[in-house]
Amino acid sequence: MGKVIAITNQKGGVGKTTTSVNLSACLAKSGKKVLMLDLDPQGNASSGLGIDKDSLESCIYDVLIDGEDIANIIQLTMLKNLFVAPATIQLAGAEVELVGIVSRETILKKALKSIKKEYDFIIIDCPPSLGLLTLNALTAADSALIPIQCEFYALEGVSQLVKTITIVQQTSNKDLEIEGVLLTMFDGRTNLSIQVAEEVKKFFGTKVYKTIIPRNVRLSEAPSYGEPVIVYDPKSKGAAVYNSLAKEVAKNTKEQSKKTKDKKKQE
Ligand code: ADP
Ligand code: MG
Repeated sequence: MGKVIAITNQKGGVGKTTTSVNLSACLAKSGKKVLMLDLDPQGNASSGLGIDKDSLESCIYDVLIDGEDIANIIQLTMLKNLFVAPATIQLAGAEVELVGIVSRETILKKALKSIKKEYDFIIIDCPPSLGLLTLNALTAADSALIPIQCEFYALEGVSQLVKTITIVQQTSNKDLEIEGVLLTMFDGRTNLSIQVAEEVKKFFGTKVYKTIIPRNVRLSEAPSYGEPVIVYDPKSKGAAVYNSLAKEVAKNTKEQSKKTKDKKKQE
């Protein structure tokens, strides 16, 4: 059964999209079958994987609002194990349109039901808000991966995000877990980055990934070529760190599913 991971933080510019694109690509390269689902109306994760948004006839908007089968919107990418459920600017309307729909926070969960078993991982790139799109992602997800930028006010808003995750656990998705916390845009030359990393570790403890994503210019260049960094520059530091993150995520997933199996045996 595929594991659904929502990449989320209501703050913009913290590395959600960069992480969605590159974690998906690295997991796919390691042999996992991956669907990258774009839930941000900006559609940057879709174009970052080479999807030409102007040529699309439908996107995730049609799935959420018009009941289109998600299988019909899925696109191929340059990597054979990597698929994309794209978003276009049309999705911007969904936040408002969803308000009038019954069980509006469970629509994505229901849409994923038919395809979940076909993938090893479904990675959701969330928009920078805690609105209905993010709520749909957290309701559909098995876990949330939280990127935190090593900058001023890094933890600002994180307690709000954790509160939202708790509310989702109490209402629409009791099994939701925190997959992990990822430090991004780390600059080891500055005290600030080091201080932020320490603060985040104090707050989240062992949930913080050992892999830390440094600032790397290749990571910021790759999207304009419509390529993940492992395709754009496989020898770059950016490629190495996202490969390392993918290994951590795959290892944790394996350990978790073993724990779940053992628990079921005991019951
Ligand atoms: P979000 O999706 O949270 O808004 P993005 O992933 O779009 O954040 O990142 C914001 C900007 O920072 C983008 O221009 C992206 O290319 C750049 N960026 C993200 N991570 C890195 C990194 N590790 N090194 C350099 N630039 C980065
Ligand atoms: Mg983004």
